[in-house]
Amino acid sequence: VNSAVEVITDTAQMQRRAVKERREARCIALVPTMGALHEGHCSLIRIARERSDVVITSVFVNPTQFGEGEDFARYPRDLERDVARAGEAGTDIVFAPSHEAMYPRGYVTAVAVENIAEVLEGAVRPGHFRGVATVVAKLLNLTLPECAVFGQKDAQQVAVIRRMVRDLNFGVEIVVGPTVREADGLAMSSRNVYLTPQQRREAPVLYRSLQEGAAMIRAGERDPEKVRRTVRQAIASGSSSLVQYVSLADEGSLEECRVLSPGERVLLSLAARFGETRLIDNCVEDVPT
Ligand code: AMP
Repeated sequence: VNSAVEVITDTAQMQRRAVKERREARCIALVPTMGALHEGHCSLIRIARERSDVVITSVFVNPTQFGEGEDFARYPRDLERDVARAGEAGTDIVFAPSHEAMYPRGYVTAVAVENIAEVLEGAVRPGHFRGVATVVAKLLNLTLPECAVFGQKDAQQVAVIRRMVRDLNFGVEIVVGPTVREADGLAMSSRNVYLTPQQRREAPVLYRSLQEGAAMIRAGERDPEKVRRTVRQAIASGSSSLVQYVSLADEGSLEECRVLSPGERVLLSLAARFGETRLIDNCVEDVPT
């Protein structure tokens, strides 16, 4: 527990501070967030705490990863509360830059990860991962961490960031924390507050349907389309939501499986809309041999 959290908003100050910590041989861990911190974020901060001397939690609602008509303007923001929660979970520094500080007038550079950023979330949200990769690259350069902690909840984001780090030689270890769920299985998300009471009651169907699909894989199903179909049907019959995709893909390449090969690690992932609110969830399974 750290009650004396420091808040840094200036990018140059953040980078100077990170250089100083590194020079004094302290190990830095970064937890990038968009704020509205919940237990999922806090679990990542605790992982970062265990692995480093200095934990930096960034709070930045990144405009470039939101598409036209998405929820950028109404995304929940409460820095004071985020600083308190981040501190309780073990953060030393909250880095909360302004949009102008991150994207000053004349800003024109972006990081584009190809292929794996263009399917699934990338197909439904064009430009999303370009925004994500760019802001994460900037955050890594500003905070100079030894490791950066991300949530399994956003599995494709992890795949995209891992690829960027490898391709662009960022000397940082990417650490992934498990998805934290509500008691009824719904994956925690800052967007869950948008759900109406009725939608909130229905939303755990996403996790239940994933579990149904995962059970099929564990039981030896080799036809990925059967798994996808079961998951889609489970969601349709258990809620009024609109399924955007159900994917069963190779975990590393995100290529859709044509057959489930023994020993392969696969990602079963989905996105569904409850009214205006988009929810995503996923699980990883090893195809039995
Ligand atoms: P966000 O603030 O939604 O951009 O998320 C910041 C980080 O927290 C990302 O690495 C997310 O994957 C992670 N995260 C969000 N929700 C959860 C969750 N329920 N469990 C674990 N990590 C999460």
